[in-house]
Amino acid sequence: MDNRCFRPFSHYTCSLMNQTSTTAEHARTAMTTRRGDIQYWSRTIIPTTREAPSDAEVPSHVLLSRAGFIRKLAAGMYDLMPMSWRVLEKIMRIVREELNAIGSSELLLPALHPMEIYEATGRAEAYGNDLFRLTDRHNRECALGPTHEEVITEMMKGSVTSYKQLPVTLYQIQTKFRDEPRPRAGLLRGREFIMKDAYSFHLTVEGKGGLNETYDDMYQAYSNIFRRCGLDFTPVEAEAGPIGGSASHEFMVNADTGEDKVLRCPETGYAANVEKCEIGERAWSFDRGTSAGLEKVHTPNMPGIEGVAEHLGATAKTMLKTIVFETKDGDGYVLAVVRGDHEVNEGKVRDVVGHPIAMADEKKAKAEGFAIGYVSPRAINGKNATLVIDPDAAQGLIDWATGSDEMDHHVKHFNWQREMGDVLNDSSRVKVADIRNAEAGDPSPRAKGVALVEQRGIEVGHIFKLGAKYSSAMDFSVLDREQKRQTVIMGCYGIGVTRTMAACVEMSHDDAGIIWPVAVAPYHVLIVLMKPDNDEHVRIATELASSLADAGVDVLIDDRIERPGVKFKDADLIGIPARITIGDKALEAGGVEFKLRSDEGKGDVVPHADVVSHVLAMFEN
Ligand code: ATP
Ligand code: MG
Repeated sequence: MDNRCFRPFSHYTCSLMNQTSTTAEHARTAMTTRRGDIQYWSRTIIPTTREAPSDAEVPSHVLLSRAGFIRKLAAGMYDLMPMSWRVLEKIMRIVREELNAIGSSELLLPALHPMEIYEATGRAEAYGNDLFRLTDRHNRECALGPTHEEVITEMMKGSVTSYKQLPVTLYQIQTKFRDEPRPRAGLLRGREFIMKDAYSFHLTVEGKGGLNETYDDMYQAYSNIFRRCGLDFTPVEAEAGPIGGSASHEFMVNADTGEDKVLRCPETGYAANVEKCEIGERAWSFDRGTSAGLEKVHTPNMPGIEGVAEHLGATAKTMLKTIVFETKDGDGYVLAVVRGDHEVNEGKVRDVVGHPIAMADEKKAKAEGFAIGYVSPRAINGKNATLVIDPDAAQGLIDWATGSDEMDHHVKHFNWQREMGDVLNDSSRVKVADIRNAEAGDPSPRAKGVALVEQRGIEVGHIFKLGAKYSSAMDFSVLDREQKRQTVIMGCYGIGVTRTMAACVEMSHDDAGIIWPVAVAPYHVLIVLMKPDNDEHVRIATELASSLADAGVDVLIDDRIERPGVKFKDADLIGIPARITIGDKALEAGGVEFKLRSDEGKGDVVPHADVVSHVLAMFEN
């Protein structure tokens, strides 16, 4: 074995990013003998173009298309060209190393599923049109897998019978299919995309071998993965789901072009997505201000709350919005009241009332006497209903406008104490609590006097404590120590692999093109031949490439017969981290020109013999 092979490039990539390496990296460092790859531009296909696709809105879509990494076949379906595949392979290698290091095993499940499998869990319906459905030659309904909870639970049910076989964590890397209503932004939201999905199985939530232990390991593995990919990211608390507590985290790449809104406390680092973010304490009081008498106004067919407010001489901020929910485990209703400019958060309302709830069925609610669209807090009177009011709406001094509980009418000068009376003091029917989506500027739930700030993110990963949701629906249990049947506890963990690649580009580019983070770059070094028909130049390039490859460096040689201007533009566009130019000028000066993609200007002349150490040293800095 060649000694030089014990200096794998990964070591340099991780020091380049000034980061400590993980156990998984160390394990590989000790064992790897990987030689770098060498490829010639003329023998592969990198169809660069000056034109951006007409539907491209975000940098990753524009640049991956222009740099010849992806090509659109149809909406949300992309060819992953050779350069893409090299990046994806590197991301997948990092994912595998980190997941294997926490004891997960890789497998591959079918992407084509019989529809019956979705019946017990109700997901055939829940997925709706997002599920790609097809019929086979025997007229049996099938689906293309959007995710694999059902399939893996079915497999485990047939393979595991005893607590002794648990815990276990399995993962796969596979193409997923979702008929997204709005495929957009190239690889960021496709209808066919590559996902790593992992599932863990346990007897308990707490304790050794429990779900929480694996969840924490996954959290760490995900942090390692995204850090090693060179991404700037924030793990945020996300919708808790059936288990409650902090049972779900999303890994968000910090990028202004991200679809997701994240709120963060600048003091404590607390971060959560809008659906989950708590709001700090807000003062409220029903103490009565002076207001004119209640006045009914005819407001037929008004377009939205702003329109109604204007018609009433109010603003959205002085309107009360009342949303009607029905309890799922009874025949009661929950009326949630927020200020007109705020959004009700269903999860928060559910937590306040302590029951599962759903938006009220309009027909049923109307029959019950709710003037849907015109409901006011007074609608709880005479009904089996609870009123939950957000603190910003629980303000006695404001002269509110709201619905009149009669179709096509609103009221002005609604006053909490005057209009509601004694029921306001009945704490079994009326509660004041945080029930709306948080916004930038809201008080932090973790630090007094500090305001939440908003940042945008791209969700590249999601970890989730499923609990017994799928195992109980599909009747998956094992025998415990006492030979009693126990429903299995599950966790699920996803990473958007193709989305991660796009997120790298969102994070790392300039006007001229992509700047790949070293760890996931398709090639580490691009050798540009100014005169590809000069045998001496070609010989130097080949020799350099070979010694770089020996040191674990992947090399692409631009041997195309093209003008230097075209080659340099393309070099910037495809974003290989280091460029070596072989031309007469540098050769006369005794070497080759060396330049990092991230550096401005022309680069330095480096003697041939020093190129390898120079490349490695450059990456080390
Ligand atoms: P989103 O909220 O963005 O639609 P999701 O919450 O539905 O995503 P999950 O079911 O949690 O996604 O899937 C796991 C991961 O797969 C996500 O964190 C994301 O990185 C990736 N992913 C999901 N949908 C897509 C898509 N249409 N295109 C590319 N990647 C996707
Ligand atoms: Mg998600």
